[in-house]
Amino acid sequence: METTQATCPLCSSPLVAESYPYRPFCSKRCKLVDLSKWLGEEYRIAGPPAGDGGVERDFDEDELL
Ligand SMILES: [Zn+2]
Repeated sequence: METTQATCPLCSSPLVAESYPYRPFCSKRCKLVDLSKWLGEEYRIAGPPAGDGGVERDFDEDELL
């Protein structure tokens, strides 16, 4: 082993300079996917959301697709 190449824990892509703001993930997409997993577990524990749009979101769902 010469250098340790950091990789994204979600998709195993090597982290590059552009990944820096999203570390330890390779991209904004992977960061949001991980975040949504955590939020999903919280919602499961707390029960289903009200369904009237009252749940705050600070990221765009489209970016998860
Ligand atoms: Zn990734």
